[in-house]
Order: sequence, then structure tokens, then C-alpha cells
Amino acid sequence: MGRVSKGVNCSVVGCSAKAEISLPADRVSRYLNVSKESRRAYLCKPHYKEFKRASKKEREMERARYSGL
Ligand SMILES: [Zn+2]
Repeated sequence: MGRVSKGVNCSVVGCSAKAEISLPADRVSRYLNVSKESRRAYLCKPHYKEFKRASKKEREMERARYSGL
């Protein structure tokens, strides 16, 4: 995860907030509707939280699946 230089906007479609975090676009696009113009996705704070929440949920579901064997 990288810090973002000033003046970069969030990559989520329809969001024009200032980006705070950059992540690999293919990872973020599984959860959020980001433009894939570059290999990095830039997220504002609220969208980063949303991404974390969504990806955490999936990890918990995976864990439940494995422990249910
Ligand atoms: Zn955003």
C-alpha cells in the first residue's frame, strides 16, 4: 500500500474525492467500481474503508469454509 501524492483523485467511478491510498487496481476492482486506466487504484478514505470492510468479509467467509471441513 502506498501513500499518494497530493492532487490525485479517487479512482472509484463517480467519486471525485482526494485519494489517500493506492492499491493494485485488480485487487480493488473485485470490490469497487474503479477505472482501470492504470494498474494502481487510488482510493479516498471512505472508499478505502469500504474496500477493507468488503475484503475482510470475504476473508472471514473463506476461513469459515475451511474450518467447516
Ligand atoms: Zn472515493
